[in-house]
Amino acid sequence: MKVLVINCGSSSLKYQLIDSDTEAVLAKGLCERIGIDGRLVYQKDGCDKEITEAPMPTHKEAIQMVLDALTNEKTGAVASLKEIDAVGHRVVHGGEKFASSVLINDEVLKAIEECSDLAPLHNPANLIGINVCAELMPGLPNVAVFDTAFHQTMPEKAYMYGLPYEYYEEDKVRRYGFHGTSHSFVSKEIAEFLGMDINNSKIIVCHLGNGASISAVNNGKCVDTSMGLTPLAGLVMGTRCGDIDPAIIEFVANKRGMTLAETMAVMNKKSGVFGLSGGLSSDFRDLEEGANAGNKKAQIALDVFCYNVVKTVGAYVAALNGVDAIAFTAGIGENAATVREKIVENLGYLGITLDAEKNKLRGENMKISTEDSKVAVCVIPTNEELAICRETVALAK
Ligand code: AMP
Repeated sequence: MKVLVINCGSSSLKYQLIDSDTEAVLAKGLCERIGIDGRLVYQKDGCDKEITEAPMPTHKEAIQMVLDALTNEKTGAVASLKEIDAVGHRVVHGGEKFASSVLINDEVLKAIEECSDLAPLHNPANLIGINVCAELMPGLPNVAVFDTAFHQTMPEKAYMYGLPYEYYEEDKVRRYGFHGTSHSFVSKEIAEFLGMDINNSKIIVCHLGNGASISAVNNGKCVDTSMGLTPLAGLVMGTRCGDIDPAIIEFVANKRGMTLAETMAVMNKKSGVFGLSGGLSSDFRDLEEGANAGNKKAQIALDVFCYNVVKTVGAYVAALNGVDAIAFTAGIGENAATVREKIVENLGYLGITLDAEKNKLRGENMKISTEDSKVAVCVIPTNEELAICRETVALAK
């Protein structure tokens, strides 16, 4: 099957066309600045990137341009849209309604819409992508793959907050967790890579990217995760503050004469390692360069980030009552060898020793702990698009 994977944001859209039989990416790219002006990036497998500036007033024009590029006579990846068998959509929030991916129908659309108050920036954009695909490619199965679904197996004790119970009953305030597609993919992948039986395994997945979260996975099922009602919770991230004393919100708003919305914007966009480094950067390459050049705030940002990961891994070892394997994934987890080194340095109590040579390698599944370590630590590149493709095939076949 050929599956078009769509990840729709409010003003951007990422796409990949995947052949599910070979799992090869036939073409990929993104649309940027939708509603502003418009820019299409298109790359067919084995070819250079093509960049086209063209007006994209709405997602409809953007998706139409993607379909035109995919079927272009000279540079397209398919001869016609008839070759595309299904569309898989990343949907950020499935609330408590969706514990797995689902074939989209009117009822599902309504349920996704009902979850929009939990993800007001994301779900409406995801819905637009679904509706436009249904309109431009009538009759094709569309599948929704939720960021929250994998975490729906968490027990109450892990997802309930210490708040009045009616906030949960009436407003659905609870921990949901995000990056679920990645946590699910990577936990399966590490078990397979290590030859472990996932049904008899304790795995901790550290998804460390610009957004970062950790999950505890027992026998293939998520039992806890660091993000919460929203992706603002948990680890210190690129620009998000992660867990803070909730009273800080009111304190800072009063001190600085900011509204609640302004304060929340700072917590989301100006905090994390970006804020800690005095606004130097949210990118770990810049922070490492800064720290090496003696920038103290950049060093503090790196230290705080690594310490947060170490503490959360420790908490999840406790939650799982042990651990067999730990996976590092996403932009930082896959690439920042020094960050991994700093984290693993503090996991000696688990009987883990880093294999410094293997830790330098990149781009493939790699065990970076020594053979005699009691717990296997691995780098496992995530592939959310492939995971969405697999889910789509399973439902659309
Ligand atoms: P993601 O959100 O998973 O795409 O991760 C993006 C982040 O990964 C960037 O903001 C960087 O902080 C980090 N990153 C990517 N490549 C490298 C690298 N070679 N070394 C250190 N950090 C990296």
